[in-house]
Amino acid sequence: MIKAYLGVDVGSVSTNLVIMDENGQLLASSYLRTNGRPIQTVQEGIQALGRELAQEVNIMGCGTTGSARYLTSMIIGADVVKNEITAHAIAASHEIENVHTIIEIGGQDSKIIILRGGVVTDFAMNTVCAAGTGSFLDQQASRLCIPIEEFGGYAAKARNPVRIAGRCAVFAESDMIHKQQLGHNLEDIVAGLCEALVRNYMNNVGKGKEILAPVVFQGGVAANLGLVQAFNKYLGFEVLVPRHHGVMGAIGAAYLARDAVGKKGQTSFKGFDLEKIDFRTTSFECKGCSNACEVVQFFENKNLIARWGDRCGKWELQVG
Ligand code: SF4
Repeated sequence: MIKAYLGVDVGSVSTNLVIMDENGQLLASSYLRTNGRPIQTVQEGIQALGRELAQEVNIMGCGTTGSARYLTSMIIGADVVKNEITAHAIAASHEIENVHTIIEIGGQDSKIIILRGGVVTDFAMNTVCAAGTGSFLDQQASRLCIPIEEFGGYAAKARNPVRIAGRCAVFAESDMIHKQQLGHNLEDIVAGLCEALVRNYMNNVGKGKEILAPVVFQGGVAANLGLVQAFNKYLGFEVLVPRHHGVMGAIGAAYLARDAVGKKGQTSFKGFDLEKIDFRTTSFECKGCSNACEVVQFFENKNLIARWGDRCGKWELQVG
């Protein structure tokens, strides 16, 4: 049996899972849509990995990250729970020695992480403006009837990328329509859109940040060659795209699990057969004071295992 580590990154849009060996080699990975059902998505994802690898690997540790990291940690029995900034920084640092900047663009959000000497010194996130995220490109690609996988190919063929206003998704779309009406070709418009997204990212998330090479570009959007070229052009040097750029958060969680179990000694992983466990959440409004907190309760096979949402700790103390 191969000693292995499981990392799970659960966000509002996607759920990424990886299994890697002790040396950081990826043995399996999966990308699933969260679809507002994080519990079921994690259960299904773990079971699918189990069908693929349960006979070959011995899970020595597991970690979670992403916006649903605490919930996920209770589902799988995580040994470590860390925020996305730490997880992405750990994964990129293992990939590129002495990485100084991480550009991360996902479907619904984007972030920048600044590292110096292997330590995170600054970061910023954008969860508000759609123009700096992958969903904007998805929308424009479908409006132009171009499959998103071919978007980068179009951008690569551009000779004179048109300048498209990228300050906001609504302006960008109307400006793009205007440029189409003026007769610009699709390749130049697509490249212009990529450049607009990069400008938007730099003016919002990257504002005031010292962006030094090496720069790692990760997240699902890093698969888009048009974006890679636009970043290279803007920065004046080449950004590096890791092979597993879409699951770096989960990879970071797996590395963190490896370190945590090294100290803790034993994993709390519940195993791959999660379908046998019934997980359920309920909530109620506490009437203890005017805060009227919505207290969430999490059950495993009818046993209450966690509560959160109470600002004063009143309900937390009664768990167990
Ligand atoms: S949980 Fe605490 S802070 Fe929240 S409503 Fe109840 S008593 Fe008030």
